[in-house]
Amino acid sequence: MDKLSIVVVTPRKDFPRGWKFVCQYCRRVHLHGQGLGHRASHCFHPKADYDASGYYIVTRDIYDKMQALDPDIYIDDRRAYLERLISEKNRQIEEEWERKIEENWNKHRLKSVR
Ligand SMILES: [Zn+2]
Repeated sequence: MDKLSIVVVTPRKDFPRGWKFVCQYCRRVHLHGQGLGHRASHCFHPKADYDASGYYIVTRDIYDKMQALDPDIYIDDRRAYLERLISEKNRQIEEEWERKIEENWNKHRLKSVR
């Protein structure tokens, strides 16, 4: 892993537990499952400039924090910081998801009681 390849994804209503983005190299949509983080690249375009190990899929807020880092920071430290941001965000997303499930469950239960 000689560099950090980072791809920004946004939550999608039509793909609620996964991520998709239009690749800047092949212009195709690449789909990835649950959770932000490091993924093997789904791109086979000969000019794709991702790290050989793949890329990190992250949300915009994480991307912005990475952009704000001092460019002289050593890559292993950048990676460690990135991975910490990602695991915090994944935890947040899971909590939101569980809350949503509970809300839906409660709504459903109220309906069936009536
Ligand atoms: Zn691609």
